Amino acid sequence: MSFFKTAKPFVIAGPCSAETREQVMETAAALAKIGVQLFRAGVWKPRTRPGSFEGNGEEALVWLAEARKAYNIPFTIEVAEAAHVELALKYNADVLWIGARTTVNPFQVQHLADALRGVKIPVMVKNPVNADVDLWQGAIERFEVAGAVEVAAIHRGFSGYSGAAGYRNQPNWPIPIELKRRKPELTMICDPSHITGNRNRIAEVAQKAMDMHFDGLMIETHPRPDEAWTDAAQQVTPQVLKEILQNLVVRDEFTKDMSGLVQLEYLRQLMDSLDAEIIDLVAKRMEMSEKMGEVKRMNNLTAYQPGRWREIVETRSERAAAQNLSKEFVVELYEKIHHESIRRQLAVLEPETKDVKEDIS
Ligand code: PEP
Ligand code: MN
Repeated sequence: MSFFKTAKPFVIAGPCSAETREQVMETAAALAKIGVQLFRAGVWKPRTRPGSFEGNGEEALVWLAEARKAYNIPFTIEVAEAAHVELALKYNADVLWIGARTTVNPFQVQHLADALRGVKIPVMVKNPVNADVDLWQGAIERFEVAGAVEVAAIHRGFSGYSGAAGYRNQPNWPIPIELKRRKPELTMICDPSHITGNRNRIAEVAQKAMDMHFDGLMIETHPRPDEAWTDAAQQVTPQVLKEILQNLVVRDEFTKDMSGLVQLEYLRQLMDSLDAEIIDLVAKRMEMSEKMGEVKRMNNLTAYQPGRWREIVETRSERAAAQNLSKEFVVELYEKIHHESIRRQLAVLEPETKDVKEDIS
């Protein structure tokens, strides 16, 4: 029986970091009471810059083992080195997780898989910080090949220079969906905390994960989120977690006999994600056009450059053909994009002109 299939959704909650014994005990007590399946807490924290709190290490493992005993709730921690695995096993951690910054590194993942060879403990693998489905799949397979009893995937979003749709990490839903397509039996858990970076948006992403057929959720929970030592903005209280879970609409499994309407809803969700990405990309392209307008202004170049436009039509049509898109459609689409791009460049070249739109048709 799969460790993660005991509840739907399978809920993993707990603080970003195990800060003090009291904080661990208080959070675990509250989460056990609302029926959370697995308690999480970071004991070694991968911090972006040095000089901040990096976790309490082994001491925190003592607290987690104590909380498990007191409240009968299993616990999971992040491991990033073989030495972490050794200590996690010393305290009989119930499940281990691999963090997003570790998944990017196949050498490190292999070290961890080797350290776990022959150990019967479920492992959860967070997506790598970069949007690479192969790298994520590869990390999961390293643990499978090493004989892990069970491996689950955690979707925590992908980093970018500026977060799409106001999220800390872009969800990029087609990536976990592609992973599930490749590995249909894989347990998929969503981590709305690290995707959103914002406690007010946890509920919407948790619901989306349910709509996308995820099996579980990992949600950072702290008794006093504003005082959290790490990831304060995205943690919720156990009471708020309870409300989020109560309000979730948990959809049924998709099977061969899924009704047309459910299937339509599923496809629409996928399309919503793709459209969001298309709009974000177009916005980025327009920003770039404005930067080009600056360069053209400084160098006294024309906004419209016929040679460049010919090149765009040629290369984009070739790419379109390779993707089974009609040339006419793609050229038409690019005419619109290019038109808007020139309009933006003209606004940079001639900032005084009130309505440049009319000048370029
Ligand atoms: C965490 O779960 O607190 C964490 C560090 O996550 P990630 O690896 O997704 O950044
Ligand atoms: Mn965190």
